[in-house]
Amino acid sequence: MIRPAGFRGAAFGDAADGNGRDDLDMRSLISEELGIPHTWAFVNQVHGGVVLTVDQPGPAGSADGLITERPGLPLTIATADCMPIIVEGDRSVAILHAGWRGVASGVINAGLEAMRALGDTPRRAAIGPSIGPCCYEVGEEVAAAIGDQTSRTTSGTPSVDLWSAAAAQLSGIDVWRSDVCTFTEPGLWSYRRDATEERQVSVAWLPQD
Ligand SMILES: [Zn+2]
Repeated sequence: MIRPAGFRGAAFGDAADGNGRDDLDMRSLISEELGIPHTWAFVNQVHGGVVLTVDQPGPAGSADGLITERPGLPLTIATADCMPIIVEGDRSVAILHAGWRGVASGVINAGLEAMRALGDTPRRAAIGPSIGPCCYEVGEEVAAAIGDQTSRTTSGTPSVDLWSAAAAQLSGIDVWRSDVCTFTEPGLWSYRRDATEERQVSVAWLPQD
């Protein structure tokens, strides 16, 4: 798994790590590797802008983000082109699922606001592997929804840069970017490349120590 430097509890999985959200055997392996409990909190992802505050593991409902103040409660999302984003505060952590719809519907700001609503301050955010501007060819509808973060694919067609769009929405806090494209990197699942049901998982947690 990719562990962004300087983060207390943040990990981005690849295809070989398996889907620890849905596959309990792979979850056990990931949990042991990361030294975290095997009981995780997760959501039914719907490409919206809702972030739920949780203090217990299991399904939390339909949403695209989770935040907790509880040490030792891993939060997870599963992706295959959308951005996994982890935000750490001083005593809370959030995980977000953001594709273009999520970026446009404000899921990132919802995560920051949820942290502030807990009386905490967002300090740093990590944007994990997801489809890059090199490959994310889009139509006018998507380009318009993302605003001014338009780009070009490696073949010269119009694309949007979700990484820069997310970083812009995370302005004022430290942002780590993997800058790894799921479409380009063979070790990662890409829905657009493979039309796959497979997903890689990302995990965020507050250490118990
Ligand atoms: Zn790419």
